[in-house]
Amino acid sequence: MTSTNKENIVWLGVYGHPDDETSASAGTMVKLSGEGHQVYVITATGGELGTLGTGGTKIRREDLASVRESELKANMKAYGANPPFMLRYVDQELEKEDSEVLAIKILDIMHLVEPDVVSTFGPSGISNHPDHIAIHKSTLIAYKKYFNPTGENSPLLIYPSIPEDIAEMYNLQLSAVEKNMDLTIGIDDTIGYKIEGLKNYKSQEDAQEFAAHLSERKGPHFESFAVSDSSPNDWESYPVVDYLRSL
Ligand SMILES: [Zn+2]
Repeated sequence: MTSTNKENIVWLGVYGHPDDETSASAGTMVKLSGEGHQVYVITATGGELGTLGTGGTKIRREDLASVRESELKANMKAYGANPPFMLRYVDQELEKEDSEVLAIKILDIMHLVEPDVVSTFGPSGISNHPDHIAIHKSTLIAYKKYFNPTGENSPLLIYPSIPEDIAEMYNLQLSAVEKNMDLTIGIDDTIGYKIEGLKNYKSQEDAQEFAAHLSERKGPHFESFAVSDSSPNDWESYPVVDYLRSL
């Protein structure tokens, strides 16, 4: 691994829209940055096709990408994370991009930040959104190009996961791997950041709904991740796995 000691973990999230990173991993990112680790997010699109405001605010469609980018930047700051890398694709046009071209953009950032953990959507993208599936495919290509089995540049690749019963409750068509609870991180101490982060996406109706759901829900709160089949077979022996489980 690029850094095996727990003093210096680099987390890289690779997601489709501003707010995906928060829904998937805000609690975990805040825990990591609070321990002095480096947290980065790549956001592929501006989310131009999202809702145009909540609670009485009305955003013009042409302003939505910049509004959502501001919301993302403010949240990353609040989480103690680095400013986001914006790839500036247009919402729902990611699947039209050549997967290899998108992968090279992600790969360049991997070389820049040298991640120990890469977190992205699994094969179904949780919601089957085409941008989520596109970002999964290209991140996987980038990961395979970046990965070096000799020990340098060999991060863990993980996907947000949802337990089978909850996936059924919400009628989510997940792939098998996305139901694996390989890493379950308790976030009772950082759930407030996640709820505030979702609320800060004032432009987005579904972020407000998720915030309300989390606010009403009694703990324990957790974020769970599946380890990708493309991660090394000996991933259980990675020091970062023990560390994430101990967070
Ligand atoms: Zn999304």
